[in-house]
Amino acid sequence: MKYDVIIIGAGPGGIFSAYQLVKKAPQLKVAVFESGYPLEERHCPIDGDKVKSCIKCKTCAIMNGFGGAGAFSDGKYNITNDFGGTLHEYIGRTKALELMNYVDEINVSHGGENTHMFSTAGSEFKKLCMQNKLKLLDASVRHLGTDINYIVLGKLYEELKDKVEFHFKTPVTDIEQTEGGYRILYGDGESAECNKCIVSVGRSGSKWMESVCQKMGIPTKSNRVDLGVRVELPAEIFSHLTDKLYESKIVYRTAKFEDAVRTFCMNPNGIVVNENTNGIVTVNGHSFEDPSKKTNNTNFALLVAKHFSEPFKDSNGYGESIARLSNMLGGGVIVQRFGDLERGRRSNMKRINEGMVQPTLAATPGDLSLVLPKRILDGIIEMIYALDRIAPGTANDDTLLYGVEVKFYNMEVQLNERLESIYPGLFIIGDGSGVTHSLSHASASGVYVADIIASES
Ligand SMILES: Cc1cc2nc3c(=O)[nH]c(=O)nc-3n(C[C@H](O)[C@H](O)[C@H](O)COP(=O)(O)OP(=O)(O)OC[C@H]3O[C@@H](n4cnc5c(N)ncnc54)[C@H](O)[C@@H]3O)c2cc1C
Repeated sequence: MKYDVIIIGAGPGGIFSAYQLVKKAPQLKVAVFESGYPLEERHCPIDGDKVKSCIKCKTCAIMNGFGGAGAFSDGKYNITNDFGGTLHEYIGRTKALELMNYVDEINVSHGGENTHMFSTAGSEFKKLCMQNKLKLLDASVRHLGTDINYIVLGKLYEELKDKVEFHFKTPVTDIEQTEGGYRILYGDGESAECNKCIVSVGRSGSKWMESVCQKMGIPTKSNRVDLGVRVELPAEIFSHLTDKLYESKIVYRTAKFEDAVRTFCMNPNGIVVNENTNGIVTVNGHSFEDPSKKTNNTNFALLVAKHFSEPFKDSNGYGESIARLSNMLGGGVIVQRFGDLERGRRSNMKRINEGMVQPTLAATPGDLSLVLPKRILDGIIEMIYALDRIAPGTANDDTLLYGVEVKFYNMEVQLNERLESIYPGLFIIGDGSGVTHSLSHASASGVYVADIIASES
């Protein structure tokens, strides 16, 4: 099999590469190889009834398949250079924003037309945050919601399926350089060749990406890991912020250690969910645009970044060990009332059920102080009190904390300003490159390399 372009991975990076290639260079023969299932076959077995928590499927339906890790996400496309990746360092701030806006136009024209774009610009909350030693980051955010995000992905697939060859359930095992391009290996000794290859394997492909880089001698740098908890509280407590901004990215510098603690992935009226990364169960959250699926709770993560350099470099390994500890103690994710954490006691179902916040995830009541390092936990507790000043009620006893939330980052692959590796024509994009950590940045990186390939073909 011979193609002009092979794309590995059908997450937002891969999808938007394919979309842009079809638009700009329809003469090119393009194939996408994806280890997961087509969109309509992606089903997480957790139904909250028979299967209450993660059963560690071989191919995780949440992380793999058409739509990538973003398929069942909250579909929050943050249009900003302030977070979500460092794409602007490679392609420039203006270009990065231009491409993120272009991706937004495509999403809007493929089912997202009735969704909202929120913005921090001119909001009164910046001042309120500053007055309380909190920093509100600038962003515009399009909230598609899990349901509309799914519709947008479905429409993109319909548009692409006859113009691009999709190979689902086909994990690529290796990449080799050939005389005129690249050969990818998959299945039982099968292979396909191409002139140009776009690798967009996301977080779930991080270990594989690392091994490819090692084998091909592509330089990499270790990255950070973010550790923390997911907070769940009555939606009213944050409604003044979420009604106007939807998601507020707020950073707090702790008085004790001067560590930065930040809010991440805020889901008004949303649900808390399990996430399975390489067999380790952590916590995440999302929400629906459909009013009938909204809950009475809002959830968001509080995270602290950890970097390691010498002699230990494996930031993700550190994060995994902490997550394993919570899996060992709780059989999965642990939930604790803030009041119980403050009193140094484990939570139990009785106290949780008597509280104001009904959990949206069936997690094991436990004690997060046995899992998270003291410095991280102290930072999170300080941040909860800081948030209580701008959203009174955040530090209520009944506020629920789920642990652990870990945000793994791929190691950063050495790339030039074309997002091309040291091998000409081998492009590495999206979260798998370590350059992006979000839907909008990953998608924009896909459009960017497709434009380069189209202009040179
Ligand atoms: C529950 C959840 C909620 C999220 N919510 C948001 C949000 O609201 N906003 C936001 O900006 N970000 C969110 N994110 C992060 C966002 O989903 C990612 O940043 C984004 O999906 C990255 O896109 P990507 O294309 O780089 O990688 P991915 O989306 O991870 O896609 C990579 C694809 O490559 C495939 N793959 C991996 N290895 C191979 C291989 N060897 N061969 C073939 N295929 C392979 C995988 O199966 C996967 O489908 C969320 C993530 C999760 C898990």
